[in-house]
Amino acid sequence: MEPAVWDIGYLIASILFILGLKKLGHPRTAPTGNLYGALGMLLAVVVTIAQMNFGEIDNFVLIAGGLLIGGLIGYVMAVRVQMTGMPEMVALFNGFGGAASALVAASEVFRRIEENTFPTDLELYVAWIAIGLSALVGWMTLTGSLLAMMKLKGGVELFGTWYRTPTWGPGWLNYVKGIFLIAIVALIYMSIEEPGNQNYVIGIIVLSCILGILFVLPIGGADMPVVVSLLNSLSGIAAAFTGFIISNNVLIIAGSMVGAAGLILTNIMCKAMNRQLIDVLFKSFGGSDKEQVTRTKVGSDPEEVAMICDGISKCVIVPGYGMAVSQCQHQVREFADLLEANGCEVKYGIHPVAGRMPGHMNVLLAEANVPYEKLIEMDDINSEIGECDVALVVGANDTVNPAARSNEGPLAGMPIINVDKARVIVMVKRSLSVGYAGVDNDLFYEDNTMMLFGDGKKMMTELVSSMKEL
Ligand code: NDP
Repeated sequence: MEPAVWDIGYLIASILFILGLKKLGHPRTAPTGNLYGALGMLLAVVVTIAQMNFGEIDNFVLIAGGLLIGGLIGYVMAVRVQMTGMPEMVALFNGFGGAASALVAASEVFRRIEENTFPTDLELYVAWIAIGLSALVGWMTLTGSLLAMMKLKGGVELFGTWYRTPTWGPGWLNYVKGIFLIAIVALIYMSIEEPGNQNYVIGIIVLSCILGILFVLPIGGADMPVVVSLLNSLSGIAAAFTGFIISNNVLIIAGSMVGAAGLILTNIMCKAMNRQLIDVLFKSFGGSDKEQVTRTKVGSDPEEVAMICDGISKCVIVPGYGMAVSQCQHQVREFADLLEANGCEVKYGIHPVAGRMPGHMNVLLAEANVPYEKLIEMDDINSEIGECDVALVVGANDTVNPAARSNEGPLAGMPIINVDKARVIVMVKRSLSVGYAGVDNDLFYEDNTMMLFGDGKKMMTELVSSMKEL
């Protein structure tokens, strides 16, 4: 194929990426967007292989082997992953994206060192700075994402649980991070001065891996959505740097798009949490070292809740992570259908960070065929929540916790769905335990709060049966 044909192939792939991203902006068009993105990637891979030298058969065996093994692992992971495991898988894929770019950059630099072929003057500066930055961002993304994955995955106690929400101060740690960053910049400079010395590159890789851990270690609790979307952005930026190193246009375009989309998402997450990115990265800690208060609350039963719900005119359903764990979205939808059949207006209040990944609740409710127009964003639902007879909170905790209105603790300043403004609050969860950020929730103990203790699916199934029996 002629070079011009490759470029046309890459151009079509880039257009598919752009159209795909645009379509991903709405749940209804998102599946088509996904398809466009996948087709764009397939085309980019085919064009890249087509422009290689067919004589170098070893390369093709390696490439085919890589595609086969990688594709198989990806397929098995995608088929086996539970909906509750998706956030960790997203974090892991961010890390793999960063590592893939960094590995390509590293192999390019080691190849040049082995062949002793270095560019000169400005070209050397551009190539070696890009190699250094790709290594910095790529390896940081890998180790940071692996740590983020462990923080998101409940129950992994390999090294204890202290790393999930550390509470020790960030001041001195910021100095350590600063020293690492300066050392990496110095190593990049030295590698330009002495391009044939691979020790500098190895030094950059090792320090970047440690820096990734240091960046993510102190962040936890309610700030995790911000860090996950930032890592997503970094994986794209690493790919763009690598695109410069190997002069691959489509990698530069795709990497920049992932970088930009990730930054937009980071901004949205920061707004949702009422945080500044700088505070999340360098100041605030998601952990809480406060003693949890031991209080009790008598639970209600589904029959009692069904009786309360009988004849109401407006209800808001607020789903959270517990709905994802118990997979009760179909029962929630059935409950809403029963209310609507009785003339009640039902809306779903969606907090931007409910669950463990952006859009988590939208995906689950779409699976249960809840119409999109009934999913109402936080600000809009808050403006009408005072008119609601019942707020049914299914497995949500932090996102409805009034403690966020105070200036203290990991949830400080985070906007919440104001379910406490509804006349009656029904909370479906298994116990009085805390949510992801580890903050006690006063809402459980309010007089107008009814606690339905139990697994979400079991409780919602019983609630639906009780409603039918009325
Ligand atoms: P939370 O994590 O605050 O609370 C979920 C609640 O669900 C728990 O308190 C738990 O209580 C309950 N639960 C767990 N399993 C079940 C079950 N089987 N049946 C019924 N209830 C169950 O959820 P929210 O959605 O309100 O908040 C999300 C939190 O996650 C926020 O702090 C957010 O910052 C963070 N986060 C969000 C990310 C995102 O991108 N959306 C990414 C990373 C973190 P119990 O054990 O008593 O049942």
